[in-house]
Amino acid sequence: MCRHLGWLGADVSVSTLVLDPPFGLRVQSYAPRRQKHGLMNADGWGVGFFDRSVAGGVPRRWRSAAPLWGDASFDSVAPALRSGCVVAAVRSATVGMPIEVSATAPFTDGQWLLSHNGVVDRGVLPLTATAESVCDSAMLAATIFALGLDALGATIAQIGALDPHSRLNVLAANGSRMLATAWGDTLSILRRDDGVVLASEPYDDDSDWEDIPDHHLVEVTAQGVTMTPLDEPKGSR
Ligand code: GLN
Repeated sequence: MCRHLGWLGADVSVSTLVLDPPFGLRVQSYAPRRQKHGLMNADGWGVGFFDRSVAGGVPRRWRSAAPLWGDASFDSVAPALRSGCVVAAVRSATVGMPIEVSATAPFTDGQWLLSHNGVVDRGVLPLTATAESVCDSAMLAATIFALGLDALGATIAQIGALDPHSRLNVLAANGSRMLATAWGDTLSILRRDDGVVLASEPYDDDSDWEDIPDHHLVEVTAQGVTMTPLDEPKGSR
């Protein structure tokens, strides 16, 4: 399982989300606290953020197939990268998956940034033609983009029914909406005065972190946070 983090709110520096917190993604790259599968996340990292200096906002990505803890260039520049919408991840590659930048989250369709914690049988995924990599997460991202993010909950429930061994924690954002699923792994939310964090695990010991129950979809917009249970489609087994 990899670890991911999303932010929707006021403009903040990427560093304050990813590198500075005592148990943030930098520390999670070598010492995650809640990871159930895999000991560390040394197979790459990615940070995506929406750049609102361009009309409408565009997603920009910085990804690497090397461990986050050793990246001095990112460490230097991250304090100067500011955004109101961020999707970041550190990766522990599933056995058999390529370790390369194109297999590293976040993935994008030009509108959304998307990360996946987990594993899925690629044979059950439809609509993978545009996937960036043969990595299961890249193929899952391509399927979700093709079906549309409005259908995220239904898509996850359907894929979960087709592959009962899958773990499908997905995090996606488009600059004004942030969506996440809890399906087989941990997910937590922190409602701050200046915005909302969704993360695989809390980046500090603030008592305001709440755990999202398994098999749930969370949606964050400027209007607030909604949480919906996800059920497997009836008659799917
Ligand atoms: N299966 C994905 C990969 O190989 C994600 C792995 C994970 O969540 N650890 O990259």
